[in-house]
Amino acid sequence: MLYWLEHDTSHKFKYACKDQSLQGWERHICPSCGREIATPIYTEPAPHLVLEGGRQFPDLLQFCGAGERWCLISEKALTVLEEAKLSGFDGYKQCRIESRSKATPQEYYCLNITGQVDFDFAAMFLKKKKRCDECGQFSWNRTRMYPRFIDRSTWDSSDICRLKSIPGFIVCSQRFTETVMEYHLSGFAFSEARYNNPQQEA
Ligand SMILES: [Zn+2]
Repeated sequence: MLYWLEHDTSHKFKYACKDQSLQGWERHICPSCGREIATPIYTEPAPHLVLEGGRQFPDLLQFCGAGERWCLISEKALTVLEEAKLSGFDGYKQCRIESRSKATPQEYYCLNITGQVDFDFAAMFLKKKKRCDECGQFSWNRTRMYPRFIDRSTWDSSDICRLKSIPGFIVCSQRFTETVMEYHLSGFAFSEARYNNPQQEA
């Protein structure tokens, strides 16, 4: 069984609303397909986050700002993932944290996720259209992305993965969810990632 990684969005937790290291976007037009290519420009090697929201610092911090879809975890969560030898990441960067409250900000780390999995395109009636060989961008044949189905054969067996076609989505193994629960890591929420083919459920 695989799970979508989501955030506990209850008001007690802080969240990151802005990455101060994002200076802007470099934009140019692909000479081959005419689509715009926008690349974020960062002034620092790691995210510089401004926190807002509730009083508690969660172990999984939600990021609502523009730029890359960061996976931000506390020092405790990082230690737990490393000690449990969970796979699917090859490093992390320490973030710079600004909090508008008086509480001393907790440290956060930006996890570099390398694990991969992808949608079951056939089950979702999705097709990539007009893929450009130059820049790799494509269009979808429909805008509706629900219901979402995972193709288990695309899973590289990592405990944490990004969805190859939409890297903002993160998928976790059962072992990952069990580890989070065992150590009472806060801010994590999971929902079942479904497969269209019941034979893949095992
Ligand atoms: Zn192109």
